[in-house]
Amino acid sequence: MFRSLLIANRGEIACRVARTGHRMGMRVIAVYSEADKNAMHVQMADEARPIGPAAPSESYLNIARIIAAAKESKAEAIHPGYGFLSENAEFAEACTKAKIIFVGPPPKAIQAMGDKARSKTLMAKAGVPLVPGYHGEDQSEKTLKAAAQKIGYPVLIKASAGGGGKGMKIAASAGEFAAALASAKREAASSFGDDRVLIEKYLTRPRHIEMQVFADTQGNCIHLFERDCSIQRRHQKVLEEAPAPGMTGKRRAEMGRAAVAAAKAVGYVGAGTVEFIADSAGHFFFMEMNTRLQVEHPVTEMITGLDLVEWQLRVAAGEKLPLTQDQVKPGGHAIEARLYAEDPARDFLPSTGKLVHLAFPPASDEMRVDTGVRAGDAISIHYDPMIAKLIVWGRDRAAAVRRLAGALDQCQAVGPATNIAFLSRVARHKAYAAGEVDTGFIERHRKDLLPPPRPATGRELALSSLALLLGRVEEARVHAKRGSDPWSPWHAAHGWRLNGDNHHTLSFRDPADAKDVELAVAAHFRPGGYALELPGGKTVAASGTLHANGGLTASLDGTGECVTVVRQGDTLYLIDGAEMRRLIFVDPLARASEKEAGAGKLQAPMPGKVTAVHVKAGAKVKRGQALLVLEAMKMEHAISAPADGTVKEIRYAVGEQVPESAELIVFEAEG
Ligand code: ADP
Ligand code: ADP
Ligand code: MG
Repeated sequence: MFRSLLIANRGEIACRVARTGHRMGMRVIAVYSEADKNAMHVQMADEARPIGPAAPSESYLNIARIIAAAKESKAEAIHPGYGFLSENAEFAEACTKAKIIFVGPPPKAIQAMGDKARSKTLMAKAGVPLVPGYHGEDQSEKTLKAAAQKIGYPVLIKASAGGGGKGMKIAASAGEFAAALASAKREAASSFGDDRVLIEKYLTRPRHIEMQVFADTQGNCIHLFERDCSIQRRHQKVLEEAPAPGMTGKRRAEMGRAAVAAAKAVGYVGAGTVEFIADSAGHFFFMEMNTRLQVEHPVTEMITGLDLVEWQLRVAAGEKLPLTQDQVKPGGHAIEARLYAEDPARDFLPSTGKLVHLAFPPASDEMRVDTGVRAGDAISIHYDPMIAKLIVWGRDRAAAVRRLAGALDQCQAVGPATNIAFLSRVARHKAYAAGEVDTGFIERHRKDLLPPPRPATGRELALSSLALLLGRVEEARVHAKRGSDPWSPWHAAHGWRLNGDNHHTLSFRDPADAKDVELAVAAHFRPGGYALELPGGKTVAASGTLHANGGLTASLDGTGECVTVVRQGDTLYLIDGAEMRRLIFVDPLARASEKEAGAGKLQAPMPGKVTAVHVKAGAKVKRGQALLVLEAMKMEHAISAPADGTVKEIRYAVGEQVPESAELIVFEAEG
């Protein structure tokens, strides 16, 4: 076994591979782009090498830089992870040439499976069932259209060189064909530099079921059962599970045989995935083979108890597969949910930004979180917006689904938009619980999964207010300890004295409320807590404790509540299970102090002489408008309006001397 391993990747998969490398006693070498200097995968490694600017084409896809880093660090092997160079035959060759072990299949196998059209020709020869379709060389529109006609509409046009759901278009009828073809070709040319396409029968309500295969250099090839990846958006997976709901032993054996035949047909070595599409009658057809470790491989690890990265490394070192087909035994049910920085409400558009708050459930035998980011890290435009993978195990599917729903409640990410609440709605949907999964699931249940935003409830306003109030008490304590200004109102930990009747008003704006009115909560100080007067007039008794991680343990009218409140500037995030409420806090203290500061400006900052008065008593003025000029220490000081308002009285005339702090003008701000 080799003793050093360079990981040519980033993010969660680089961290995940590093863990196994370390467990096997290897020296782990990370590579990183300029954007990833402080990334988690770099922190985890024993050694790290910079490979260039943030853009993948200049770093994680730069073969020469990565090979150079491997040589400099004397790495014996390179693990490519998934994505990036993992399915690049040229990279695999470059490794071999540099006498470094490429942890993956032989370049020839990558090439054979790298092209969807060519691989289908090979699979047909190997007797693997294919979706009725055309994958020939002739790319003329006439031939392609005739093929579509023969297959029968609807058809799917796919980029031969495609991946990641790109370059894929549906033509529902002959009339749509020309436009769909042109669009697929355009996307294929721009994404893959290759506009060849293939045509397939478009199956309705199909399921994506894939088989994990493993082969060694000694001619052994087995499968590690299936994964159902039917819950997809934009033809890309969001939830994966094993076993596939409703899978029979007979069909599993058939699919396993087909997958092993597919792998053997291309002389496969290492971990690979044969993707099938299955129709509602249970027929399955070869779609493509991914010649790498798959994003969702942990699902297989959870039901088999195996470490697939360990197997990859052992096979790469020339060892025999650790187990035979009969020796691998699946147990229980596993589900993976991909936590993405994306906005489900905006067609799952990726979202970027700093993760100001991040929390996951604690790991156990039944719960696994694979991530490559920590709180404070950013999701950037350069890379995949995945935040983490949450993988759960249960004795059966029902137990796994329940655990998934519960685990999602413990996942928190503040910063970019995320799909956490969306995933939780899928996990709690009765059709999902019933195993009614197919690739149209999300579209079909759109109404339930993507409900329109609803305005904040009184309970949410009360909890947010309580968190702010308790936060201030805490701040006051900290300030008091520092002893900076013992007379600051912040120090009145039992309540402010700004208002005579000992209450304070907190104002919010609710971005989810189309009316966009300011919501005022009057907080009356009560022994041990507050009476919160909510916008509708209802009053609730609120008390609680705010913990350092944002956790709020509260009591509202005697009902126990446990939420998390994270404040970032003026934005307040109330995390309640998997759902998150965002409120804009209109800080009344800031406004009050602004007013006070404003009022202060109407006093003489120092002793001096009034040299000009620009307004008369009773004048309505705009904020910032100059009202009076004071000359002091040979300098002119303009006194201007602190806000829109009215000049009530002018206490001094031009030429008069004024003492320090004399009130020059009595001013009344508007509103
Ligand atoms: P990619 O390389 O982007 O992964 P695939 O060929 O694996 O492309 O297809 C991605 C997804 O598109 C599948 O998981 C499935 O949801 C859908 N799909 C692919 N082929 C068909 C088909 N013939 N009929 C219906 N849906 C399909
Ligand atoms: P799978 O078929 O294994 O589920 P996907 O096609 O969903 O794979 O995801 C593979 C994709 O992940 C790559 O095409 C790439 O866009 C993205 N990717 C590549 N590297 C990383 C990484 N380090 N972390 C997260 N995502 C990545
Ligand atoms: Mg695929």
